[in-house]
Amino acid sequence: KNSEVEKIYEINILAARYFYSNLQQNGDKVKYLLDRGLDIKTIKRFGLGYSLNSYTSLLDYLKKKGYNEDLLLKAGLVLKGGKGYYDRFRNRIMFPVFDYKGRVIGFGGRVLDDSKPKYLNSPETPVFKKGTNLYGLNFVLKNGVPNDLIIVEGYMDCIKLHQHGVINTVASLGTALTKEQAKLIKRYCNNVYLCYDSDAAGKAATLRGIEVLHSEGLDIKIINIPKGKDPDEFINDYGVEEFKKLIQDALPAIEHLIMAAKSNKNLDNPRDRVMFIKEVVDILRILNDEVEVQAYAAKAYELTGIAPHVILEQLNIARKMKN
Ligand code: ATP
Ligand code: MN
Ligand code: MN
Ligand code: MN
Repeated sequence: KNSEVEKIYEINILAARYFYSNLQQNGDKVKYLLDRGLDIKTIKRFGLGYSLNSYTSLLDYLKKKGYNEDLLLKAGLVLKGGKGYYDRFRNRIMFPVFDYKGRVIGFGGRVLDDSKPKYLNSPETPVFKKGTNLYGLNFVLKNGVPNDLIIVEGYMDCIKLHQHGVINTVASLGTALTKEQAKLIKRYCNNVYLCYDSDAAGKAATLRGIEVLHSEGLDIKIINIPKGKDPDEFINDYGVEEFKKLIQDALPAIEHLIMAAKSNKNLDNPRDRVMFIKEVVDILRILNDEVEVQAYAAKAYELTGIAPHVILEQLNIARKMKN
């Protein structure tokens, strides 16, 4: 059983090298990555590759290396259909997923056009468990234990930031940050910046992410990217120095949420004040430190004139409803 796990790691590294060499032989696919602002050194460092537009190329390659089809299926690299086994990843840009030790545990594959699904990821395998890993952590740790981490959504966000010297970046891959990922962060540092896409999905994920990170006791700041962009797009448009300003401007999570609640309201209007207080109460439920709760209730009072004890009463009611 243990040797099966070892074999899957072996297979993964062989597949990663195979995809890498495919990429090197397909200049138009390299061009896709260069056009997206990556450089040759970054492509090499992150081991980016290409899966051929073929149903059996990786399968044939790994069979020739002596691995049986059943094991390749377990590694998540092939699928089994009526007519036999075939490659899972076809005609995609390949991102090897490394664990914190730098072992290849799985892959993400991106289409080169607008077809769906945009990304295809490895399934759960004996070495790839969803939501237990942070993409890029192995590269972060090469520079020692970080003081803080920046969490982004996607492969390209993470890679682009590393290329531009923001080397404490990891990606949660997909939007739902898990408790296990929060615990993994906690092994190294206490401070995190959440930097999700500035679209509706990213904003919802920020809210959930804050709850998860907060419940592990992490100190959280929110990097707010303007105009619906993600970190990769922002850096393409404005450069890394502007991104560093966004890091400087990051607000503590609770303040960020309160400011976000305020931003779409006119607090001179009583109905908006009511809405605002309801949202603030919802936000304050995340906190378990009563001193912090008092401080933010006072802040909400300043903004609305609604007495702190009224806000605290509402909070107690909301807490009881939840439990
Ligand atoms: P790109 O910049 O390459 O267009 P992105 O990273 O900005 O992609 P998002 O839609 O913001 O793409 O998704 C963020 C991350 O979520 C991706 O990097 C990928 O890890 C994961 N993801 C996105 N779409 C899918 C999908 N269809 N299936 C599985 N995972 C996905
Ligand atoms: Mn997104
Ligand atoms: Mn993107
Ligand atoms: Mn994105």
